[in-house]
Amino acid sequence: MSSLLTIEEALARVLEHVQPLETELVGLDAAAGRVLAEDVHATVDLPPFPSSAMDGFAVRAADTPGSLPVVARIAAGRPAERPLAAGEAMEISTGGVVPEGADAVVPIEVVVVEGNTLTVPDAAEPGAHVRSVGGDVRRGDRLLAAGTTLRPALVGALAAAGVATVTCSRRPRVTVLSTGTELRPPGEPLGAGEIYEANAVMLAAAARTAGADASALDPVEDDEEAHRVAVDQGLAGDVLVTSGGVSVGPHDLVRRIEEELGVEEVFWRVAVKPGKPVSFGVRGRTLVFGLPGNPVSALVGFELFVRPALLALQRAEPGPFYRSGRLAAPVRRVEERDQLLRARSRLDGGDLLLEPLRGQDSHMIARAAAADALVLVRRGEGELAAGASVSYLPL
Ligand code: AMP
Ligand code: MG
Repeated sequence: MSSLLTIEEALARVLEHVQPLETELVGLDAAAGRVLAEDVHATVDLPPFPSSAMDGFAVRAADTPGSLPVVARIAAGRPAERPLAAGEAMEISTGGVVPEGADAVVPIEVVVVEGNTLTVPDAAEPGAHVRSVGGDVRRGDRLLAAGTTLRPALVGALAAAGVATVTCSRRPRVTVLSTGTELRPPGEPLGAGEIYEANAVMLAAAARTAGADASALDPVEDDEEAHRVAVDQGLAGDVLVTSGGVSVGPHDLVRRIEEELGVEEVFWRVAVKPGKPVSFGVRGRTLVFGLPGNPVSALVGFELFVRPALLALQRAEPGPFYRSGRLAAPVRRVEERDQLLRARSRLDGGDLLLEPLRGQDSHMIARAAAADALVLVRRGEGELAAGASVSYLPL
């Protein structure tokens, strides 16, 4: 038992085998969720011109307080035809170009307008309500660094800075394969000894949240030839994720068939509960994960090893990104293995409390579905007390 790899050792071995994928140009409309392969620089100053922050009047601060003739009306996108002269005001909209000669905008709320005459009751500060050129970002400045995952706000920032396409790692092609003679697709009636197949949709969905192009093959029976055909097909992608069939039973065929097909095993079994029988290997550049069949074990294996690999393939930080919280109830440690317990999180004052769910058995996917956190309980003896600080992975 003590010879099993730790979670960290196993992950390090996975990451050693990751070679980042090729890059491609991506238009902004398809860029959300993608990972930048190169730094991105602004193509313009932002704002590109002195811009009004308010609806109001462009003036010279030195002319305020006072009464001024309104000599032009400036809409956004329609600059004034001439500079502002001393003693003049120009009406201006938010986003309009503050004309040459003006150094302040007086908001409409604080002035009095009668006919064409503007009265500004108080002195305006030079620069008031004028957004300065390049105040947000300067042309040529680095806007985003390589390795950044493009969240919606970042896609917006790129567009604002004039960037139309970005160089990203291509999406990893992930194939998911469930194994087990007992598995039936949901929607069909169950025969004797059968259960519904749950892992393929779950793992494919999880892979997509990590930026992958994921598809699932039809589940295979515990039959060598069926395994051979499906595994061979799955090995054509960047990543093959199987579930089931990696334990020590006579019907656990995955590792043997993979070996036959040229997969070099890097490790089998990790000191983690659930998910101990997880396997990892490579064939060429294809990464091959064998997750245990119990849905909770499969999910834990995915979060600990597969998601980091998918991120690393795309040049993002691999994580896993643990956060910290406190146990809401005591838990029993396991001597030889680190545990990942399904828990619900809640805020209690400034504390994030993690309440381990009842029913931690690794087949209890329905119970685990209520969890929004996987709490890491390090191996050891006895109990970890309520209130102990722990790391967790958000689900
Ligand atoms: P295995 O890892 O193949 O020994 O499977 C362990 C347990 O998980 C068994 O009870 C299987 O019936 C169950 N199991 C395996 N694959 C799936 C799946 N795709 N969906 C739901 N349960 C599964
Ligand atoms: Mg099985």
